[in-house]
Amino acid sequence: MSERGLLIVFSGPSGVGKGTVRKAIFENENHQFEYSVSMTTRKQRPGEVDGVDYFFRTKEEFETMIKNGEMLEYAEYVGNYYGTPLKYVNETLDLGKDVFLEIEVQGALQVKEKAPDGVYIFLTPPDLIELRERITNRGTDSEKVINQRMKKAREEIEMMQVYDYAVVNDEVDLAVAHIMKIIEAEHFRVERVIGKYRRMLEKL
Ligand code: 5GP
Repeated sequence: MSERGLLIVFSGPSGVGKGTVRKAIFENENHQFEYSVSMTTRKQRPGEVDGVDYFFRTKEEFETMIKNGEMLEYAEYVGNYYGTPLKYVNETLDLGKDVFLEIEVQGALQVKEKAPDGVYIFLTPPDLIELRERITNRGTDSEKVINQRMKKAREEIEMMQVYDYAVVNDEVDLAVAHIMKIIEAEHFRVERVIGKYRRMLEKL
């Protein structure tokens, strides 16, 4: 039987560049984990593909999933629901593959309650002024939404203490390299491998 995969939870404030870093990780040929596509009720942005970037769903559809216990976690973020469908995560971990979640902090806290043995990585901006510029330059949000996102970002940065690792996103390539090393090292933790050796000893 293969070992259960590793659950990797990747978070950080809005606009810090999580999406960019996550895409760069998945473009890296050395990665060996599966991306869990999130579900959201927010409007599809130009260029986004349903089922690839998100599963875009109505509020009613999302609430039905919540009611049926089909979400690993979910959060209301700036007026919309975002969440992780449970089935894909469980099935993929059971196959022995690592699963990578890119989610905001409230969701990460819920996952930590359920799966404290996951790896929790927090992406930090080099500074908050730059963070605001990045969100503004993206040009997709109104001033009101930008202010809401910044308020959220402050609260989120204080949540860093809940995570296992903090990686600064000053250069995407560097951040990706750090994250890949963290995940690689996590596979060597004794508590992750000891079960396998115990089973071997039993067979001796
Ligand atoms: P955006 O609207 O910019 O795509 O995402 C807004 C925030 O929602 C980001 O911080 C993003 O990481 C987070 N997010 C995306 N998917 C999920 C999810 O499945 N669950 C939670 N809790 N947050 C998510």
